[in-house]
Amino acid sequence: MKNLLKRIRFRINGDVYQKLNDFRDELSDKIDLGNQLVLDANEQKLNNLRSDFQVENQHILNVSQQKLSDLRGEVLSKIDLGNQYILNVGEHVKLLETPPPPPLTFSCPALNTFQLAFSTRYADRIQCASFCCENLEEIPTVPLCDSGKESIHNIMVKRQQMLLNPFSWGKLCVTCTGYELNRHKTSEQITYVNLSMLPAPCQCRCIYCENQNTASVNLSPSDEKNYDRVFGALEYANTRGLIANDARWQISSGEITIHPYKDRLLRLVHNKATLFFTNCFIYDEQIASNLLHNARSCINLSIDSGTGKTWYNVKGVDNFSKIVENVDRYHANSVRNGQITLKYIMLPNVNNRLDDYVGVIELMKSWGVSELTISRDITEKYVMNSDYQNDLINSVRDFVSVLRENSFRFVLHSFSFEEKQKINA
Ligand code: SF4
Ligand code: SF4
Repeated sequence: MKNLLKRIRFRINGDVYQKLNDFRDELSDKIDLGNQLVLDANEQKLNNLRSDFQVENQHILNVSQQKLSDLRGEVLSKIDLGNQYILNVGEHVKLLETPPPPPLTFSCPALNTFQLAFSTRYADRIQCASFCCENLEEIPTVPLCDSGKESIHNIMVKRQQMLLNPFSWGKLCVTCTGYELNRHKTSEQITYVNLSMLPAPCQCRCIYCENQNTASVNLSPSDEKNYDRVFGALEYANTRGLIANDARWQISSGEITIHPYKDRLLRLVHNKATLFFTNCFIYDEQIASNLLHNARSCINLSIDSGTGKTWYNVKGVDNFSKIVENVDRYHANSVRNGQITLKYIMLPNVNNRLDDYVGVIELMKSWGVSELTISRDITEKYVMNSDYQNDLINSVRDFVSVLRENSFRFVLHSFSFEEKQKINA
């Protein structure tokens, strides 16, 4: 009976993982979250588990009022979270302190959640790692070393220094829309890996992109060395458990389907939760397989248009119907709605027409997309004049109202708090 089921959450280490595995078949329901399992167990099983996993395990239980009363006698201390109690159980019951809220500090989510980006940041032509991809010249970076171990060590040290002293980040961070006074939660492990290295090929010609029309690239020995440095750092981090099991990966290094390191990149993210930025010129079986094997994986197409004419104006290639056909195939190969994600880079006087908005909404319906990311040309973000900004805000506001009328959600990406307020006004 469902109402007899009790929910238990275990934080487990490797030693008890196998032991816990033995229980899996006997438990009625589970959700695997990497090294954290959320399990539904019946009453008897719950008691067995409690005695088998003493001391080192923390149980988070949803229990009835009666059960809570029973447990009170056995537990020295508890933290009441409504009907959810967090307990340490075992021979010697330990007091589990409520973790204090993180302190108020200036920081940015990218640093605190430990994002790692490999993009177009270089020091003396050596590939750097950064904690974000913000389009500011002097974001904090760490040059990579020939040794993956050394690269990761330097990244860790830099991050720790920044966390300890948020006023040491450099003047440009302070102008960033992500830098804010807040109670930022800090992750110990890398939770996001963004692979956007250049040179990388792309056969598209987006008018806002500096990497357009590079269908073939010849990598120099120093480019190859830079790619090796990235792979070396990530392979080391992987083997040392520094990347969270549930980390998200992003491949946006040019166009992955024609990338000279395609196989190595795809091996790195094999069946992992990955966001593939692709122009969808080519349907790729390996990407489709990843979507099929990991429900958290997605493709992202910057569609930027809802008609073939606008597509051509933005992308420089007249192949809108082929793109639609390829996305149809990815959608047919996905395991849940939401694995096709779309972005719309709003370009005043280029793609801010009603027929484009309507066209995008029709495609969203057919691909099971419920939320559209609306972004901007980031090359203009910090240099735009007020006329451009007004046109941009008005265009986004118009599109948002059409999305709302059709019950679609939207996310505003790369807009400041003030700009979002104007859009939502
Ligand atoms: S540029 Fe912005 S997002 Fe990047 S590290 Fe600085 S504050 Fe964070
Ligand atoms: S698809 Fe991506 S890499 Fe290619 S031109 Fe457009 S923005 Fe640039």
